[in-house]
Amino acid sequence: MKILFYDTKSYDKESFEAKAKDYPDIQIEYLKSELVPSTAKLAKGYDAICAFVSSDVGTETIDVLSACGVKLILMRCAGFNNVDVEKATACGIKVMRVPGYSPEAVAEHAMALALAATRRIHKAYVRVRENDFSLGGMQGVNFYRKTAGIVGTGKIGAAMARICHGFGMNVIAYDKYQNPALDFVKYVSLDELLAQSDLISLHCPLMDETYHMINRESIRKMKDGVILVNTSRGGLVKTEDLIEGIRARKFFAVGLDVYEEEKKNVFEDRSDEIMETSVTARLLSFPNVIITSHQGFFTYEALDAISETTLNNAMAFTKGERTGNEVEIE
Ligand code: NAD
Repeated sequence: MKILFYDTKSYDKESFEAKAKDYPDIQIEYLKSELVPSTAKLAKGYDAICAFVSSDVGTETIDVLSACGVKLILMRCAGFNNVDVEKATACGIKVMRVPGYSPEAVAEHAMALALAATRRIHKAYVRVRENDFSLGGMQGVNFYRKTAGIVGTGKIGAAMARICHGFGMNVIAYDKYQNPALDFVKYVSLDELLAQSDLISLHCPLMDETYHMINRESIRKMKDGVILVNTSRGGLVKTEDLIEGIRARKFFAVGLDVYEEEKKNVFEDRSDEIMETSVTARLLSFPNVIITSHQGFFTYEALDAISETTLNNAMAFTKGERTGNEVEIE
């Protein structure tokens, strides 16, 4: 099995090379280029390509991959909203992913964002380094005995619910399917969750029905002084409406690991460039907002699990076995 690995970062190569030693039948070529239609043609002669959340695995790319003879798309991530699965299926290309490499990695990052934004750790870090030990603007709120609203209680949402429970919070949730393991969680409607939560953490996938679920209307239903955290996908939140809500002092704090404009930025060093759009810059201008660059997954444990599952997926494909990690049209 020959795999062409797109958008390689040093940490990807390190963790995949360490694991690949246990898979002698797999040969991996690492490319720094991102996967877009124009680079897809480099996959000629490869059985599979390995892509990530920032890759363009849309119709055009899949057409090129199909013409190159690629039979397998290995997503080294859980989400697959950037993959045209229907097109891949029509072309006879299988898509596989890593559904649950380390839910705790993302959930712990969600709580880190919630705490950092709420306690203004980002401001304190800079201020103290400047020998400014004043506390103006630093006042936070306790989480203890407050209500945490978890939207989507799958693997990551369940881990976040457990963390919030551990903080002594009252945990409520909204999901289409209730998770019976979460016996300390009260399931409510989305409107009830919006109205009752002091902290709202988003953990449902991005789909047509969840696109822009946080918008002017849903923000209006939230408590004043709410804390919002999004570690799921940027498209869940309508950024312009979020900015409007922040300006109207609706939010005590906002922590975003994902945001709508991230695609052009994510995992790149753009510190020498002039930003072409102002949406991210506007978000960063608010003292109660923290943004990280889609790093919820980024722990040693998670990368280890990602490389192992991705290589297992590749092996299972060659043997014609199912792993449960196949992405299929419903
Ligand atoms: P999961 O499939 O285990 O859980 C998703 C949950 O959302 C399920 O319980 C599902 O029933 C629920 N859901 C579906 N539609 C819903 C709706 N309309 N309203 C409310 N809930 C709904 O997925 P997971 O592993 O917990 O991951 C959740 C999301 O986290 C992924 O879709 C991905 O976008 C994101 N993610 C982010 C990072 C990161 O680095 N920031 C890493 C991994 C995953």
